[in-house]
Amino acid sequence: MPAPEFLAKDEAFWFGLARDLRGGPPVVEFFAFAEVAMRIGTPLSPTATRVMLLGSGELGKEVIIALQRLGVEVIAVDRYPNAPGHQVAHRAHVVDMTDGAALRRLIEQERPHLVVPEIEAIATEMLVELERDGVAEVIPTARAARLTMNREGIRRLAAETLGLPVSPYAFAESLEELQAAIDGSIGYPCVVKPVMSSSGKGQSKVDGPGDVQASWDYAGSGGRVRRGKVIVEGFIDFDYEITLLTVRAVGSSGQVETYFCAPIGHLQVNGDYVESWQPQPMSAEALRRAREIAGKVTENLGGRGIFGVELFVKGDRIWFSEVSPRPHDTGMVTMVSQAQNEFELHAKAILGLPVDVSLRAPGASAVIYGGMDGEGIAFAGVDQALRVPQSDLRLFGKPLAFPRRRMGVALANGTDTEQARQRAKLAASRVKPVRG
Ligand code: AMP
Repeated sequence: MPAPEFLAKDEAFWFGLARDLRGGPPVVEFFAFAEVAMRIGTPLSPTATRVMLLGSGELGKEVIIALQRLGVEVIAVDRYPNAPGHQVAHRAHVVDMTDGAALRRLIEQERPHLVVPEIEAIATEMLVELERDGVAEVIPTARAARLTMNREGIRRLAAETLGLPVSPYAFAESLEELQAAIDGSIGYPCVVKPVMSSSGKGQSKVDGPGDVQASWDYAGSGGRVRRGKVIVEGFIDFDYEITLLTVRAVGSSGQVETYFCAPIGHLQVNGDYVESWQPQPMSAEALRRAREIAGKVTENLGGRGIFGVELFVKGDRIWFSEVSPRPHDTGMVTMVSQAQNEFELHAKAILGLPVDVSLRAPGASAVIYGGMDGEGIAFAGVDQALRVPQSDLRLFGKPLAFPRRRMGVALANGTDTEQARQRAKLAASRVKPVRG
């Protein structure tokens, strides 16, 4: 296979050398061997550096904007038309991303240099194939996308391969198996989640024997696969939980290095995030352990990009919960709290560019929900919201609302995170979804 067209002549030499020495898929191996930045060309021309987002929600939209600012040609894919990211990309496609053949056709048609998953529900086996065949580089790696799309893959990797501290857990494929797992090693209270789900869908807490049937039924309704496996986890009575944004980017050594953002604290209701703030104060020991865990799991997943590592904290004790190999919803706060927000960090890291993870000012985010079912809704009170000192808003532009759908986010700075949280919540509360 010839060197990709975006490489300069001397880089093409290294490309060839890396391929000769290492064997494997050229672009991926090339970056693992000699870390150089991708050459950025001109969008919509033969020199364009093309990036395809698989999933174009509010997080993808911000990644696209960050890439656009760097002169990258961006192709946005989602399963419904006019998704937030579609509205800011060079080209938009509507595809069922769980359909491997359809995904391959689209990638072969668009020939992106990088494929960037933004969601979990993707035919990740096809990504593994495409990466192996050298068709495109998958961010951070196809293996990371495959392992994290299923709670079982990432839990077994974290607990059984890496030996990281996690809540007690078991998997069950029937009500009987679930009951046996709880009676055996897990106990009450515990949390039941479909293995193929996110954002709290199908997730519930089981306080006693009377809740088991309802939790099982609820899990069946909330997973991406209708009748599937669940994970049951012992309930961790944590003091607080954090997202530790961890970036794998090319450092001054020319090799991929690991960078940690300041910890983000967040509040979840029914497994879905409603508020986040940065920085979350932590003891030095807890922070050291959190970074150690995040470093281990992200190093194993490999590649370049940002990872949202979710951890539970009690005193100096840390439990690993989950990791997303992409920007994290609780990380939207970084749009006001960091010098480079999580989307800019992701964009730079995937292009092989240097990153700066420094904190700018204490900040907070508060979610704005749809509050109703409706198409093409409007938002009243935006002006009032923006009268809150040091506040800002993002309205995602989703064509369809439903009561618990995240339609926007309020952001604010303050002298400390407490003030920032009050301001973000106040601004969010002033935005009122109304019928168009
Ligand atoms: P998840 O979808 O696994 O990230 O879970 C969503 C949220 O549910 C977490 O951020 C926690 O607030 C809560 N949660 C999940 N698992 C547990 C657990 N084992 N113990 C306590 N809380 C949990």
